[in-house]
Amino acid sequence: MVASRTIFVAGAGIGGLTAALALATKGFRVVVLEKAERLEEVGAGLQLSPNASRILIDLGLGPRLASRVVVPEAVSILSARAGGEIARLPLGAAASEAAGAPYWVVHRADLQAALAAEAMAHPDVELRLGCQFEDVAAHAKGLTVVHRRRDERRQDVALALIGADGVWSAVRHHLFPQVRAEFSGLIAWRGTLDARQLPRDHASARVQLW
Ligand SMILES: Cc1cc2nc3c(=O)[nH]c(=O)nc-3n(C[C@H](O)[C@H](O)[C@H](O)COP(=O)(O)OP(=O)(O)OC[C@H]3O[C@@H](n4cnc5c(N)ncnc54)[C@H](O)[C@@H]3O)c2cc1C
Repeated sequence: MVASRTIFVAGAGIGGLTAALALATKGFRVVVLEKAERLEEVGAGLQLSPNASRILIDLGLGPRLASRVVVPEAVSILSARAGGEIARLPLGAAASEAAGAPYWVVHRADLQAALAAEAMAHPDVELRLGCQFEDVAAHAKGLTVVHRRRDERRQDVALALIGADGVWSAVRHHLFPQVRAEFSGLIAWRGTLDARQLPRDHASARVQLW
């Protein structure tokens, strides 16, 4: 492995996979460590505004995502008490053209699967599933990144390490042990349902904020 051009990324979520592809297009070799044995279909709908969809299109994901995304006609802000529409932000083709990229709604699992497929097809990205980041140390040649697969602990030399290992990040904990995520006491429930089961007034392709 050529350490001077190799960047390690901890976490194969949307952040880690996008960072890996972005770095690979700039000529780096990237190793993505993901502690899960497989990438599971967790999550629900994500809204990607043009600043995000533009990056994904530039990374070549347009064809993989074309059949998985919805371009909403509008974002509607609705009153939870009365049910009426308070405000409407028109989207769709005209807004996409004005912004230079589309507004997309996509299931997190579809986005992650498309990013993972693109990463695995890239010759300079190596995705190591079932491989957990454990430790990092800096020295004259760069970094030593320590990781574990089951009982086997291994280390590699790298130019840099990116912590994209989620809200309970082990990378952040190593670098900034005094910074800790704190549970706010608030829980957001997310789910999906068949849009055909919605009342007709709410079945159009809109983002609805209640
Ligand atoms: C209610 C809600 C609504 C949201 N809506 C939107 C939206 O509309 N639009 C939008 O853009 N975003 C939205 N988000 C945010 C978005 O879902 C998250 O910001 C995003 O998924 C985080 O991605 P990530 O790659 O940073 O982390 P994660 O998806 O958490 O991925 C981290 C990965 O790191 C792995 N990992 C953890 N520890 C280690 C380790 N030690 N070694 C190796 N791997 C490790 C985990 O297994 C995981 O695969 C929403 C979030 C919430 C909670």
